[in-house]
Amino acid sequence: MPIVNRVADLHAEITAWRHDIHAHPELLYDVHRTAATVADKLKSFGCDDVVTGIGRTGVVGVIRGRKPGTKVVALRADMDGLPIEEATGLSYKSTVPGKMHACGHDGHTAMLLGAAKYLAETRNFAGTAVVIFQPAEEGGAGARAMLRDGLLDRFGIREVFGMHNFPGMPVGQFAIRSGPMMASTDSITIDIEGVGGHAAWPHLGVDAVLVGAQIVNQLQSIVARNVDPLEAAVVSICVFHAGHAENVIPQHARLRGTARSLTPKVRELLQKRVREVVEGTARLYGAKAELTYRTGYPVLVNDEGRTAFAAAVAGEIAGKDKVNEDCPPLMGAEDFAYMLQERPGAFIYVGNGDSAALHHPAYDFNDEAIPVGTSYWVRLAETALAG
Ligand SMILES: [Zn+2]
Ligand SMILES: [Zn+2]
Repeated sequence: MPIVNRVADLHAEITAWRHDIHAHPELLYDVHRTAATVADKLKSFGCDDVVTGIGRTGVVGVIRGRKPGTKVVALRADMDGLPIEEATGLSYKSTVPGKMHACGHDGHTAMLLGAAKYLAETRNFAGTAVVIFQPAEEGGAGARAMLRDGLLDRFGIREVFGMHNFPGMPVGQFAIRSGPMMASTDSITIDIEGVGGHAAWPHLGVDAVLVGAQIVNQLQSIVARNVDPLEAAVVSICVFHAGHAENVIPQHARLRGTARSLTPKVRELLQKRVREVVEGTARLYGAKAELTYRTGYPVLVNDEGRTAFAAAVAGEIAGKDKVNEDCPPLMGAEDFAYMLQERPGAFIYVGNGDSAALHHPAYDFNDEAIPVGTSYWVRLAETALAG
């Protein structure tokens, strides 16, 4: 596998950074230690510019090539962990109770730092490479916060690229697809108001539990009966809170869940049908239901040309046969989608080997993937900015 030689030399150093970040996980925008570590390292590498505080705690490093050129290409990593108690027993396991790097953003940050070190050392390209370290990927829309702070225009960014590790795919492999690759995710909260009362006189009340149960069932008809069977959609109700005692019919119930899709058309259909089903079902049973439908991350859409380009770069690193250029889309979500709404680019998966799943307490980023991901980044920048 043609890993970049200098990157192979940096493997141990990048691994040490990864372990340090792993031991000190931070959540959402509260990534002060991680962001400070990133900014210090970028300065020590000799980046031409290091800017902090973009999108609250995001960090950007600017590296200009030795050759003249005006093109600006951005590489993006995420820095935040998750509110999960780590159960790995690793020597570098989380030192913070209830927080861990269970999505591998420690690895993403370390690999992009490694690429920044190499690119600042060699500068063998024309134009400018921008490295973006964002906060709050895990539900906080940190990418959108950085965009709202003028990220793209401020640094003249024309193309954006992102990467995520992928448990279950062997180390040394990549997967990507053109077009929609990850789902939009919208959140559903339903507050049902019935009439409480004694469990022995149900006819005098309106049972919020029964109404809630009917709504959960009816919502399943949306994917089964309203969405085109050749399109993808998910409606999952994952929270059902109601009642306190076995002999009291509860007045109130709260349901919460998620609706996901891969096209704006299906996304709109889900929103419309969830509202109709919730309001109609509640009315059928004489209850009131209030739906709060919050739109979250958009569909992640890879640009066709940049996807082919990214796959070709990955093929140079891993070998053509180790790059799946047509992986199936996932119903998971990723806020890099916001950046891809603004600029053409591509998001790619890099194999994490036979690890626990993402967001699992036993998950760990695979350090063997570091030379692969870091080599991908440096070759991508050098090729995109070949001049
Ligand atoms: Zn995650
Ligand atoms: Zn993640």
